Amino acid sequence: MSDIKEIEAYAYQHNVPIMMDDGLEFLLGQMKENHCRSFLEIGTAVGRTSLVVHDTFEGIRIVTIERNPEMIAQAKQNFAGKENITLIEGDALEVQLPKDQLFDCIFIDAAKAQYTRFFTKYAPLLAKNGIIISDNMEFHGLVEHPELTHNRNTKALVRKIARYREFLQALVDYQTDFYSIGDGVAVTRKRG
Ligand code: SAH
Ligand code: MG
Repeated sequence: MSDIKEIEAYAYQHNVPIMMDDGLEFLLGQMKENHCRSFLEIGTAVGRTSLVVHDTFEGIRIVTIERNPEMIAQAKQNFAGKENITLIEGDALEVQLPKDQLFDCIFIDAAKAQYTRFFTKYAPLLAKNGIIISDNMEFHGLVEHPELTHNRNTKALVRKIARYREFLQALVDYQTDFYSIGDGVAVTRKRG
């Protein structure tokens, strides 16, 4: 199975949290503007975003990391025959990528509570003039209105996302813009 519509249908049926469509369009637009020729994704899920990126940018080099065995099994099937996509199986906080293979776009879209750690670990792999895109920066509007949930785990998660936003804004070497698109998308660049 590698038809993107089928993969999207699978994701909706199985509650796989793929990126929202307008967020994905925005990501592709940012990648076009920045002439991205390599893409690192933290959190593959079933591979939908990587496949769309693969089909949109001819010859782009894609590395994507996933730790959940069920997701890995799906992603593997979906990536069959796509030579430019490398799936790394493991926890993104544990696996080691070569230090000399830089990426024009790094997409952070895995466990929301760990974003600061993902950023800290992977930002050194950002190519000159590259972009780091972080998804779910609004988390269903709860980052702005945390009072709308009474679920303790959700509250804790939302606090962590808010802290990650503060972390990004406080970085001296990087500039971040937040966009209210999809579930909230942040675009971070290294300052010149
Ligand atoms: N980027 C995908 C959606 C990812 S959903 C898309 O746009 O279609 C988030 C995924 O991140 C889940 O599949 C989850 O298993 C994975 N994940 C969460 N924490 C992770 C970690 N530390 N390392 C690797 N994968 C992780
Ligand atoms: Mg997401």
